[in-house]
Amino acid sequence: MNCPNCGKEMQEGFLQAGNLLAFNKKRHKLSLNPKDPEDTMIARKAFTATDFSGFICKECGLVIFDYKNPIVHW
Ligand SMILES: [Zn+2]
Repeated sequence: MNCPNCGKEMQEGFLQAGNLLAFNKKRHKLSLNPKDPEDTMIARKAFTATDFSGFICKECGLVIFDYKNPIVHW
């Protein structure tokens, strides 16, 4: 897959998150819990991590992953 930003070849791999990962419309200072209807909690696990298949561009820093399909099995 080529980077939609710079066009260079992207490296395939896994985005591995900790317990919480959120994409929020505005930055939250304290809690990552959703405050806006457009806020998206990407990963919320009490004791385990959440991994996603994805692509990274080492050239410009873009990471692409499908947040609706986390990898749940080893
Ligand atoms: Zn790029």
